[in-house]
Amino acid sequence: MRFETLSVFPQVFAPYLDESIMGRAQAKGILDFEAYNLRDWTHDRHNTVDDAPFGGGQGMLMKPAPIFEAVRDISQRGDCAPHVVFFSPCGRRYDEACAERLSHLDRVLLVCGRYEGMDERAYELADEVFSLGDYVLTGGELAALVVIDSVVRLLPGALGDEMSARDESFSDGLLEYAQYTRPADYEGRRVPDVLLSGDHGAVDAWRRRSALERTARWRPDLLDSAELTDEERDFVSGILDEPDGKDE
Ligand code: SAH
Repeated sequence: MRFETLSVFPQVFAPYLDESIMGRAQAKGILDFEAYNLRDWTHDRHNTVDDAPFGGGQGMLMKPAPIFEAVRDISQRGDCAPHVVFFSPCGRRYDEACAERLSHLDRVLLVCGRYEGMDERAYELADEVFSLGDYVLTGGELAALVVIDSVVRLLPGALGDEMSARDESFSDGLLEYAQYTRPADYEGRRVPDVLLSGDHGAVDAWRRRSALERTARWRPDLLDSAELTDEERDFVSGILDEPDGKDE
C-alpha cells in the first residue's frame, strides 16, 4: 500500500516510519511511503504557503493555491489517483473502522494542515476529513502518522503474528481483555488462575467476560453497537448497575 503526505514539515515522518514495525513494513514492500513538501508548489521567492485570514483574526491560514496545485499534480502521478484525506478538528472522528476501510485502498494521500488551518476552499479536494479527537494539534503530521500506523498494522504480513491485529481492542466492538505475563505472582498480585489452567475453552470464556467487563466500566458507549448475546447483555447490565463510587 502506498501512503503519501503533503505538508510543510516533510522531514518529520521518516524518524518514526523507519523504525520498528513501520520500518520493517517498508523493507518488506508492504508500505511504500513518500513525503511531499508543500513549498515545492509555491512560486514566490519565500515559498509562502500561508496568509492572513479575511475578516481579521489571529494567526495565518494556508493559502488555497499551493494545496490545489500540489494535490492535482500528485494525483496525476502513478497508475491510480489517491484517496485524499485532510485533517481537521472539524472532521469525522477517526476510529478503527476507518483504519480497516483505508487498509483496502492502494494509495492514500494525507494532506496535513498547519497554522490556524486551511482556506475552506481547499477542503473541496478531500475525499474525507478526519479528526483524531476533541483537541487541537499544532499540525496534521501527527494525525497522518496515526493513520499510517493504524492502517499499516492491519496489512497482511505487517505484524509478525497474522492474528494479532484482529484480536484487539475495537476489532469486535469491545475493549481488549486483560492480559498478563510472567511472573504469575508479582509481590502478591496474582494472575487469574484460569489463565494458568491450560483449559482453552475456559480461557476464552474468561477473556470474553473480561472484555465485556472492561468495556462496560470504561467505554459503555461502545456497548450500543457491539454484538452481544442476551446472556452477555444481562452480564453487562449487572456491571452498569453497580455503584462504582464515581457517580456518587
Ligand atoms: N483552527 C483550526 C485548528 C487548526 S490546527 C480549528 O480550530 O479547527 C492546524 C492543523 O493541525 C489542522 O489543519 C489539522 O491538519 C491539524 N489538526 C489539529 N487538530 C487536529 C485533530 N484533532 N485531528 C486531526 N488533525 C488536527
